Parts: sequence; C-alpha cells; structure tokens
Amino acid sequence: MATDSWINETLYPDWGQRFLVKRELARVQSDFQDIVIFDSFSHGRVMVLDGVIQITERDEFVYQEMLTHVPLLAHGSAANVLIIGAGDGGVLRRVLQHRGVRRAVMVEIDGEVIRLAKEFLPAIGGDAWRDPRADVIVGDGIDYVKRATDASFDAIIVDSTDPIGVGEVLFTDAFYANCARILTSRGLVVNQCGVPFMQADELRETSARRQKFFPHVTAYVAAVPTYVGGFMTLGWAAKDASLTRVVTEEIRARAQAAGVLGTTRYWTPEIHVGAFDLPPYISGHLPVA
Ligand code: SAM
Repeated sequence: MATDSWINETLYPDWGQRFLVKRELARVQSDFQDIVIFDSFSHGRVMVLDGVIQITERDEFVYQEMLTHVPLLAHGSAANVLIIGAGDGGVLRRVLQHRGVRRAVMVEIDGEVIRLAKEFLPAIGGDAWRDPRADVIVGDGIDYVKRATDASFDAIIVDSTDPIGVGEVLFTDAFYANCARILTSRGLVVNQCGVPFMQADELRETSARRQKFFPHVTAYVAAVPTYVGGFMTLGWAAKDASLTRVVTEEIRARAQAAGVLGTTRYWTPEIHVGAFDLPPYISGHLPVA
C-alpha cells in the first residue's frame, strides 16, 4: 500500500526524526513490544520497536560492525561469544565472520522480532541463522546469564533496546555481576549505551554499575546516522585493561587472520583504535580511571 505518511520516532518528547513511509510491511504487537517494519524512501527497510528506530538497511553496517569487530578483535582469541538481544541477526552474522569463533549463542526475548527480521530484513542476518556454530534462543537475557556456567564465554555483546521496558534488566547490577561470573579471565562485555548528547544518564549510570564488577570500564563511539544526536556510545567493561591498548597494526593483523579485513564499510583498524578517543562531553560521563 503506497502512502504519503510519515513515521515519527518517539524516543524524545521534544525532538526526533521522521521517515516518509513508502510502504508498511508489518505491524505486530508482540508479548513484549510494538513492532513495525516499513519500507522508507531514504533508508531502505526500517525496524521500529515501541516507537524507537532500531535498525535501517542503509546504516546498520556502522553499528553492527563496531559492536562486533571491536570487542572480538581487541580480545584476539574469542571462541565462545554470547549475544543478547540483536533480534535482527546483524550482530550474529558478523560474529560468525570471525574464523576463531566456535560458538555464538544469541538470546533474544522476542521471537516475533526474529521471525519478522527473517521475513522482511533477510539481508541483515543473511545465512547466520543456519550456521552450525549459532545457537539462537528465544528468552530473557537476564535469565540466561543467571543460569550460564562460570567462565563459559570470552565476550558478551548486548545489543538491546534502551533501558526502558524489557531492556531495562540488561542494565542492572545483577546482570553485570552475572556477566562477570560467566566471562573468562580476559573476558569483556560491550553494550549499546545510547547517544550521550541526549542520553548521558544511560552512559553515566550503566558505567558506574559496570565498574562494580569490572576493573576496566570505558566506552567507544560510532557515528550511526539514524541514532540521532551525534555519536552513539558502546559501553565497554573488561577484566583486562590491555585490550584497549592493542595497536593499530596488531588489530589489522588480527582482522586479516579472522577473515574480517576488507569486508567492512565503517570499521577499519584506525577507526577501531580511534573510537576510544572520546570528546570531553562524552568522557565526562565515565568513571575516573
Ligand atoms: N541496534 C538496536 C539499537 O541499538 O537500538 C537494537 C537492535 S535489537 C532489535 C534490540 C533487541 O533487544 C530487540 O529485539 C529486543 O526484543 C531485545 N531485548 C530487549 N530486552 C531484552 C532482554 N531482556 N533479553 C533479550 N533480548 C532483549
């Protein structure tokens, strides 16, 4: 159905972006959230959850590459990776690009997001869903980390919605305490941490929580066009502070060995290293080292 209607993002009461809708593809009220997928004139297909833009075909590569390649290449030998949220499959696809990954467990609370992403956004997850190393679980991430075995993962990637609604539990002390327990001795957890120009509290409060359980807490940035407000921050909590000090040439060598170098459109070894150099309006919300 062609329309000349607009979809307005409702993340902020007094500011936002809007998309001219070419065609609405799906509108489902799941047990957890309102899911809309539509075809836009400007960004290809777009997924919206509870009025918040989650992913667009046009700029998803920025966010997925940075949320995935930075932690895995900084770690250098991640074999067991836990992904929480990420129902569109984009993070799973990029985790499985890494030759050294043996197991990628993905825990997404809403099976409807997976079903609709497979149907209407097939390129984002690609063949990841059928990869024998992938274990896709429909469930709550907080429950999964409670039950998971000690030191069973090298990296945890939390690609959740914002800390409102079902996503809220993924920003709590209990969640981070269990992440620390189930990570190996050089393990780390990264998570989407909002746009600090508009959501500084999210970065400040969750960084303070992560600091209770991890010796090295910082953040890195990515310029995601449809996460409006400037830099998107990705929260970083690691047991080994040296992970963010890996030099560009070593990152390049690791990316080559992993099979990632030359496959990206935003991430580069230089962007990887530079993403941790934060402007004061962002670093000011991080715990003092
Ligand atoms: N890249 C997007 C962003 O930064 O806004 C997020 C992508 S993904 C669609 C977010 C996913 O987190 C959603 O599919 C949502 O269902 C899932 N999610 C929210 N809370 C969760 C929880 N407690 N456990 C597992 N998945 C959760």
